[in-house]
Amino acid sequence: MPSSPHDPAPDALTRRAAELEALRQAELDTSVSGDQREVTGESSTVSQHPADTADFTYERQLQHTTQQLLEREAEQVEVALRARETGTYGVCASCSRSIPPERLQARPEATHCVDCQRRAETGRGAI
Ligand SMILES: [Zn+2]
Repeated sequence: MPSSPHDPAPDALTRRAAELEALRQAELDTSVSGDQREVTGESSTVSQHPADTADFTYERQLQHTTQQLLEREAEQVEVALRARETGTYGVCASCSRSIPPERLQARPEATHCVDCQRRAETGRGAI
């Protein structure tokens, strides 16, 4: 296992990437079976009460939201992994200040300091 001692949280990020990959795979597996039911029209052969349909729609929406969140997280992790390769990991991509190790421990995929992240999340100024 290659490891660079100067990385603040080398293994946390790799672990996060693996975690996310597993979660996305699990989500994809569930959504594929759901989509297949829709595509093949099998759902019409099953008697459906309106309540069931509503539950199903809600579940689909929830799943979609979860997928989007996972997608975003995975993108973040990838950006962080790339940053590690180029040696800019742990440095804020916006203001170039170093990101505190505590933050990297809590969010290994963080590529921005708390200030810049907050600014981006409140929609004031782009990342
Ligand atoms: Zn910053």
